[in-house]
Parts: sequence; C-alpha cells; structure tokens
Amino acid sequence: MLTKTTIYSLRISSLIMVVSALPACAAEDSGGSANILLPSGFGTSVEATVETEPVPHDGDAADDPAIWVHPIEASSSTIIGTDKLGGLAVYDLSGEQIQYLPDGNFNNVDLQDEFSLNDESVTIVVASDQLSKDIVVYRVVFETRELSRVGSIEVGVGLPYGLCMYRNAETDRRFVFVNNREGDVEQWELFDDQGSVSARMVRAFSVGGKTEGCVADNELAVLFIGEEERGIWKYEAEPDASGERQLVDTTGPDGHLTADVEGLTLYYGKNNAGYLIASSQGSDQFVVYDRGGRNEYLATFHIVANDDIDGVSHTDGIDVTHASLGEQFPQGVFVAQDGNNDGGNQNFKLVSWRDILGSR
Ligand code: CA
Ligand code: CA
Ligand code: CA
Ligand code: CA
Ligand code: CA
Repeated sequence: MLTKTTIYSLRISSLIMVVSALPACAAEDSGGSANILLPSGFGTSVEATVETEPVPHDGDAADDPAIWVHPIEASSSTIIGTDKLGGLAVYDLSGEQIQYLPDGNFNNVDLQDEFSLNDESVTIVVASDQLSKDIVVYRVVFETRELSRVGSIEVGVGLPYGLCMYRNAETDRRFVFVNNREGDVEQWELFDDQGSVSARMVRAFSVGGKTEGCVADNELAVLFIGEEERGIWKYEAEPDASGERQLVDTTGPDGHLTADVEGLTLYYGKNNAGYLIASSQGSDQFVVYDRGGRNEYLATFHIVANDDIDGVSHTDGIDVTHASLGEQFPQGVFVAQDGNNDGGNQNFKLVSWRDILGSR
C-alpha cells in the first residue's frame, strides 16, 4: 500500500529528474520569473507521436483532455478525454482506450491529486455534464487506472460549459471554477462529505463575453480564462480576491490569438518558471507565454502531419504535464484535441514536450 509520503517523494524525485534533464541554455532570472528555456528553442512545427482511438460519437464530440500522472510508474499514466456527445474516455499512453463511461455529455474535464477522501489520498476528476447540468466527480482507481464516481455538484450557472480546478498550495483548499456560455463564472470549494465529494459556492463573477477554457495556477494563485472572441484574462484565484483582472493577450491585429480562444494549460517549472499555453482555434495554432510575471508572449507552434498521424486543427481543449513519462515523453507530454481526425471520429493527439522545445 502506498502512503501519501511515498507518493510525494516519488513526485519530487521525478521533478528533480526533469529539471536536471533540461538543456544548458537555461536563462537566469533577471527579475520576476525567468524561463528555464530560451524561447528561441521552440519548434514552430511539431508532430504528434501518438494519437488516441477516436471517440465513439461522430461530429464535434471530443473536446477536452486531462493527463493523470501515475505516481509510481510514469509510463502507466493516462489521458482522460471528454466526448461531449456521450461520455468520458480513459486512454493509456499508446492511445488505446481502457475505459469509456457513457455517463453524460461531458464538455470539459480536469483533475487534481492528493485529495483526502475517506482518509485516503486520491486523484479526483471533475467533468461538466451538459446533460444533467451538474459537475460530475470521479476518483482514479489506482490499481485499474479507471474512474469511479464519487459525487455530483449542482451548480448555479445553468448549463455548465468550461471548468478547471485550483488548489491553493499553502492552505490545500480545493476549488473548481465553472463557467457558462454567457461568461458567468462560479468558484466552488470541494470537500469530503463522508466519502463522497460535495461543494459549496464561494465566489461568482462575470467575464462579460462567452467563456470556456480556463486554467488556475496552484502556486501563483491566479486564474486564466479565455473570453473566446476577445483574449485571455487573468484574475486572482482566491475566493476573497477582488474583481481586478488583466488582459494577457488578445485576438485580432494587436495580439497573437485568432478567435476562438479555447483550451488553456500550464507547464509548471521550478521557481515559478514555466509556460502558459493557449489554443488559438481560428489559426490552428498554440500560443506560448511566460507562466509568471506579465505573461510575456514567447512563441507559437502548430502540430503537423507525419507519415502515421495527421496534423491538428480547430482544437478545443489542451493539457500538458512537466512530469517525465518515461522514454516516450522524457520532459512531459502535450495533449490536444483534434477537430478533424483523418482516421475517423475526433480524437486527441500526444506530442512530446521535448519536441515542442526543439531540443532534440
Ligand atoms: Ca469543437
Ligand atoms: Ca481542461
Ligand atoms: Ca468554445
Ligand atoms: Ca487532424
Ligand atoms: Ca488520425
């Protein structure tokens, strides 16, 4: 039986491995948050090395992925992907589907480790269900890597659309941000209610226009949320935060994004370094920013076809991890929904983060 401490120390050692494996072109901090890697290292065209099996439904069905990093055997990590016309799928790192839950019309998915449920430390997975209009909560069953339902939350936004989780690294409080197509956002705090997950609403605000993609930084305590036609907003993530916000980047001639702004994700580096990545759906590109400071623009890349796997276009959700997932993905993996899969229904493409950095 794994203890929480074992898992934690394994995490730390894999993090150290990742950091020490980074190339020698590391840029030193010159004030605020510096990046581990020089932006000039980014490849502008990258290829996927794995694609998942297509989702069971045709049309615009696959939407958002979340990566579960296996705490002991990193190559046994999984990708959890939504099928918004019918369920939630779990894939292994070869892209093979190991579970399909026909439990609802799940639009977005996110997860978080080390949630205390019935005195056990578990990974919880949340998904916005457009059928029941609830947020459905699962836990990862460590032995099988499958998902098991542990709760559902009735939210106030009506039809829940995008969602993302936030964990305050100091207090360990856990939250879900959920939004609707009108730009209303609610923040819910999760808690263990005798073995199932319940939640209470702690904050509500409006972005002003259609929202969906979002991601919260657990260490810097900020929320990034896309206003699909306008750009990326940054808010404070704590429930008692002010309504202050900054526009990180915009669509149109003054920015690097082409509407819709869709998925957002964070690549965590050491000492608050790392990257914020956005799906610029209208240009079939991914835009990379500094994770900290003023979130400076760094680079743009896209995923092109190779002999085996088609390129990626019209992406909704994305996710990335910095964790080394073995030989296949030594510096982590970037996962993108593909709006047009040449092998059938929509699916998810996996790109080695090392290829994105261009440090082959
Ligand atoms: Ca779509
Ligand atoms: Ca997501
Ligand atoms: Ca959208
Ligand atoms: Ca494609
Ligand atoms: Ca394909």
